Amino acid sequence: KQAAYAKMRDVEPRTRDGQRITVMMNAGLRDDLPMLSMTGADGIGLFRTEFQFLVSDAMPQRDRQTRLYRDVLDAAGKKPIIFRTVDIGGDKSLPYLVNDTSREDENPAMGWRALRLALEREGLLKVQARALIDAAAGRVLNVMFPMVSEPWEFYAARNVFESQLAFLKARKHTLPEAIRYGVMLEVPSLAETLDLIAPKLSFISVGTNDLTQFLFAADRANPKLAERYDWVSPSILRFLRRVVRQLDGYSVDLGVCGEMGGRRLEAMALIGLGIRRLSITPAAVGPIKELICKLDSAEISAAMDGWLANPPENMRTTLQQWAEARGI
Ligand code: PEP
Ligand code: MG
Repeated sequence: KQAAYAKMRDVEPRTRDGQRITVMMNAGLRDDLPMLSMTGADGIGLFRTEFQFLVSDAMPQRDRQTRLYRDVLDAAGKKPIIFRTVDIGGDKSLPYLVNDTSREDENPAMGWRALRLALEREGLLKVQARALIDAAAGRVLNVMFPMVSEPWEFYAARNVFESQLAFLKARKHTLPEAIRYGVMLEVPSLAETLDLIAPKLSFISVGTNDLTQFLFAADRANPKLAERYDWVSPSILRFLRRVVRQLDGYSVDLGVCGEMGGRRLEAMALIGLGIRRLSITPAAVGPIKELICKLDSAEISAAMDGWLANPPENMRTTLQQWAEARGI
């Protein structure tokens, strides 16, 4: 396994026509950290902080959270880490966190979860904000909020961080060098207000796992539905292309951190849409870097324009044949 990673570890993911694609990895536990150097990923584009909560039988205390975040930053050295605030609730329920508003969420994925829960249980978000700010003392802190559906949710969450920052400053804590804020784009409604929110953000990461389940109204965990829609369908690709175009002219860094980006044809399509940052499962980092090095971004981009204007009957087969014809 080590050898498989080693092959691409030190290779820069750059397309044949010179586009540097940032290939980061997704993580959530201390155990994932060695994969960063093993795969040669450019950083962690999605650190799922809820994992620590899910493996604990009580709410993780602030100092435990701080230790974990500090260890992650230490392990990463100069590579960037994007910490996502807790995405709990829904199907990731915690026995020690009682859902008192809608105990019987009929649709947990679109229920009381993630930022919705964190904004209501503000204490939880405050503790996490303080832990992240302390852990990132003297360094850059990248914070990302999950399940943002309208800009106000982002402003409310950022306020929690900014007030904790002021609190810790008054107590003479060493503060982060900077805080960069971002959101996940995984609730389709957010795509309608990108012009409002983009100027306030450093980055946006598309969460294609949730985004596709909401676009298709198809439970991401139900295997019977998995066959009914395709990540490379024109609906998803056109949606994403609109997002890319709407963000044109803003300095916000757009990436994709769902599982979609870790698959060959999907990654190819995303690069064809103009996506330049992927955060994927560690095992996919090597194979996707290899793919990138064989790809001509201008060529795939022109092909995507044609396919999305006039979709072929089967986009997957078309992409597959296009790749095969080029030895990709
Ligand atoms: C997503 O929804 O695509 C995502 C990356 O987050 P999660 O899988 O943790 O919901
Ligand atoms: Mg998600």
